Amino acid sequence: METIEYNSFAESCIEDLKALQEKFQKDYDIDSYDNWFYNQSTGLLTFSTGDQELNFKYFNIGSFSQKSNTWKWSWDNDTTLENVKSQVRVVREFGQQSYFEKLTTGYFESNEFEAWEFLAIAAKLAKGMGVYRPVNDEHLQLFFVLTEVVDNDKAKRINDKYVQCGLHDFRRIAFVCRHLNHTTKVGFEESFESYEDMELFEDDDFQAGCDECETVRQSEGEWNDNSMAFADIKIVCEKCYFEMKELNLGHR
Ligand SMILES: [Zn+2]
Ligand SMILES: [Zn+2]
Repeated sequence: METIEYNSFAESCIEDLKALQEKFQKDYDIDSYDNWFYNQSTGLLTFSTGDQELNFKYFNIGSFSQKSNTWKWSWDNDTTLENVKSQVRVVREFGQQSYFEKLTTGYFESNEFEAWEFLAIAAKLAKGMGVYRPVNDEHLQLFFVLTEVVDNDKAKRINDKYVQCGLHDFRRIAFVCRHLNHTTKVGFEESFESYEDMELFEDDDFQAGCDECETVRQSEGEWNDNSMAFADIKIVCEKCYFEMKELNLGHR
């Protein structure tokens, strides 16, 4: 097999990215929006002006620090959620096959131009529709590949599946009866067998009730007004849900 040379490969990816981004800008005009916002949990990058919104699915390939002149791939970064970095695997695997060390080393001295090369390579390998490079609160340049435009209805449905938790920040939503808590065992009956971080179908939610609620449900024969009133379901975050599960069942 012919070995490709890194520099010429990176260069060709940069050329491709220029064309890709030009079309992307023309199609979506993202620079015309007043605000941008990304959310690792939902994997959505949002541009907005007033209540006008444009959403994309994105993944984060890594970050460049102007302060230390270093590059860090997202797979080497514990603060980047799996949800927005698993897609980078294709770049790393390609790097392994091609013996491109820069694509397989997690953290090293680098420069901004090189960071754009990594972004161009990732956009090409992952068939991105465009890229975006925001700067976060720690003044790190983040490099995103955008993969899909998400219409407003779908973005709302995705956002509705998340909740801001006082203990655990922004997480997926879960439902428990009013008796479940963080300190006392009351039993844990689920509507389906669950585990943390599992993928859920759009219609599915984490749901659990205590033993008492289960007894009431069985005596009523179903979830009806009476059993629902007794359970008085409340919203918690996914992390709280699995902490309650572990407290009651000894496993998550
Ligand atoms: Zn209960
Ligand atoms: Zn929580």
